[in-house]
Amino acid sequence: MTDSLTDVAGAGGALGSTGTGLRIQDLSKTFRVGRRSVTALDDATLFTDKGSFLSLLGPSGCGKSTILRILAGLEQPTSGEALVDGRTPRELRRDHELGIAFQDAALLPWRTVASNIRLPFEVSGVKPDEALVTELIRLVGLEGFEKAKPAQLSGGMRQRVSIARSLVVKPSVLLLDEPFGALDDMTRQRLNVELLRIWTEKPATTLMVTHGISEAIFLSDRVAVMSPRPGRVKEVIEVDLPRPRTPDMMRTPEFHALHDQASELLFGDAGAAVGPDADE
Ligand code: ADP
Ligand code: MG
Repeated sequence: MTDSLTDVAGAGGALGSTGTGLRIQDLSKTFRVGRRSVTALDDATLFTDKGSFLSLLGPSGCGKSTILRILAGLEQPTSGEALVDGRTPRELRRDHELGIAFQDAALLPWRTVASNIRLPFEVSGVKPDEALVTELIRLVGLEGFEKAKPAQLSGGMRQRVSIARSLVVKPSVLLLDEPFGALDDMTRQRLNVELLRIWTEKPATTLMVTHGISEAIFLSDRVAVMSPRPGRVKEVIEVDLPRPRTPDMMRTPEFHALHDQASELLFGDAGAAVGPDADE
């Protein structure tokens, strides 16, 4: 246990008591690697409001993906708890409440765009909602590419398919792990604007891992900065920029102040083991 009371106050804001939204409390995870053990997370605590957008920033290897994988039910925590709206990852999966998009779009190469987006219906044995598939294709700007195969698409288009697929279950919780991490800056910026538009149309409680400070601030209601491994949440920055957000807001003094605050937290203490993830 740690200074979790301060963590809770800092990370929780007004919502801790309501039980809705994301509730990660004293989450720890130790991996066994042969005879060694690696502590990826050490009492990480983080709360967010239902329907809010939170980004996770932190040096490489500090446990960001581990948090997402625990929320997705792909890993079990060693201790602590991770709940969304009072439900466990297992329950969220069962109820098809999770939308997941990771860095590598992981599309099935032999399937078309439309049938990749339709896939979660098949996996869960639910009759596909074709109107929704069509709407999502429009939402991510892939009209006309319904029948294209992944190999015929650019990297940015493949990530858009992946985002559409994550939204097709109408998730109440969206987990994004560096969804645009592998793309060039221009494509990434454009997709961030699109992601924001999509999220505004279909708000979900969103947790996005990124290594871009600017994109974290641009998209989020709050930005959680993690410390180097073993990871814990160092501080949560409230992003009180108005919505709807437009890219020109990135040139305002308010934006720069938030950017400085996040950089300071990431790189501030000289000699801290800041990994290549923090590239800005
Ligand atoms: P991040 O996403 O912040 O870069 P990760 O959550 O992927 O970090 O990993 C945190 C730490 O846990 C790293 O040191 C990583 O090597 C280790 N780790 C992650 N997954 C496993 C695993 N399945 N087995 C062993 N070690 C792991
Ligand atoms: Mg990662």
